[in-house]
Amino acid sequence: MSSNTLQIERAAPPREDRLGAGTAFCGTCEELKSRIGLKGSGCLNQAARSFSQSFGCQFTLSLAMLNTLQNTVVVVHGPVGCGFWSVGGLGSSRGQKRLRDPTALSPIWVSSNLDEHDVINGGEKKLREAVIYADREFHPEAIVVASSCVPALIGDDVDAILESLHPDVQAELVSVNCEGFKTRLMATAYDAVYNGILKNLSSSRIKRESYVAGNKLDDLLWDYRRNHTVNVCNVGSMGRADELELQRLLNVLELNVNFLPCYTRPRDFRRVLDAALNVSICATHDDYYLRHIKEQFGIPYIIGAMPIGRKFTARWLLDIARFFGIEERAKALIEKEDAALDAALQPYRAALKGKRAYVSGGEIRIFVTGELLEDLGLEIAGYKAHHVDEFMKPFLEAGENTDKTFINVASQQPFEQANIVRRLKPDVLVIHTGSGNITSKHGIPVFPLFLPANNYMGYSGAFEVAYRLKRVLSNCQYNRNLHKYRPLPYRAEWYDKEAWSYIT
Ligand code: SF4
Repeated sequence: MSSNTLQIERAAPPREDRLGAGTAFCGTCEELKSRIGLKGSGCLNQAARSFSQSFGCQFTLSLAMLNTLQNTVVVVHGPVGCGFWSVGGLGSSRGQKRLRDPTALSPIWVSSNLDEHDVINGGEKKLREAVIYADREFHPEAIVVASSCVPALIGDDVDAILESLHPDVQAELVSVNCEGFKTRLMATAYDAVYNGILKNLSSSRIKRESYVAGNKLDDLLWDYRRNHTVNVCNVGSMGRADELELQRLLNVLELNVNFLPCYTRPRDFRRVLDAALNVSICATHDDYYLRHIKEQFGIPYIIGAMPIGRKFTARWLLDIARFFGIEERAKALIEKEDAALDAALQPYRAALKGKRAYVSGGEIRIFVTGELLEDLGLEIAGYKAHHVDEFMKPFLEAGENTDKTFINVASQQPFEQANIVRRLKPDVLVIHTGSGNITSKHGIPVFPLFLPANNYMGYSGAFEVAYRLKRVLSNCQYNRNLHKYRPLPYRAEWYDKEAWSYIT
């Protein structure tokens, strides 16, 4: 290991510290651009609110990612209520798992069920019982212990407890330190989960169990396959249709594809070595993991565009093709796909032209989706990003059309969103699933920014967005009725104030 090799920390640092990320801003894209500094040097990192509504907890987002793993039991180490997301997301997780493996089990989770008594006496005994129960009852490949706020506050040393349990259990033990109180940025959850994978499922085990040399022909075949394989880092919100579309495009370029980390088995993390290149589909998701894999195992990676809309799909494909020296082949593919998409979109363009969309969600996804919507003929009324960090900067710098566009940076904060939407009066809200319940009462139709059941990525995704958006825009009655019959939760005085009144 070289002296500058990245060490895997006991727990991933909060993104406020690691990336200088911020969660509070209202203004234009041009103003935002000047306030983002690399690694916390911008003033945005210090911005806060004097009044704040709910914001997401990284523990729940960690569960969303962990519940996708096949043949794994998740132990929620904390009060039973911290596992609420595993109940709410069960149907989607099960359905998506079975699309990848029809024999897959539903997500299984148990709770150590900490209470007031354990806050005084420590949670070690209950954690041991929960892990041993999970191992004996379900015989999983891995048991992941996700630590919520309480064990961190009372000082449970989860890593040490799991180390001492190794002789008593068959499963691999993984500790994920994802306590909600440690960060305002939900996206820190991705780093927390990857930190657990790197500590417990990668490193030395990968080296030991990777391919063992056979005869010369086997070696050549293995080398050939490895040199034509890419690992694509998927995200939990990505549907199977998205994966199939990206796989189709890469297969045309004669590349093999592995998808990880979501919906894979724990042992699949060893496959990370059996590829020439790791490719992210979203910078917000993967930079922590891919940087460590490159440092430890020398596998290069690409973190760039998200393959949504024709412009960013083409850029994603060309980035990969450039690495393999097959750019001309990729350009021919892009030209053919573009022509087919153009023809398919013709019947939808008239209905979409000139409609104004407010786009809310992850910092990368909102800009690539905005680009797709503009390609379909819509205008962008405004953006809202959960947070902002250095990965947004290239999008702000490249978007000469977006300089004057309004942008709000907020993790949740529905009161700000309601105020902004009322002022901007868009024709449609393109919004992160679950974030539009209050705003949708303003009578504006809602189009989900993502749904695992649907296709958004690649060329087929662009078509599907156009097709579904036309349907949403042609019948807005549901939201009009909501507006007519359901009261808004905010007083009229709030709508007279500026949306940024509480940002300090
Ligand atoms: S903030 Fe802490 S206590 Fe609340 S759900 Fe998240 S992990 Fe559990």
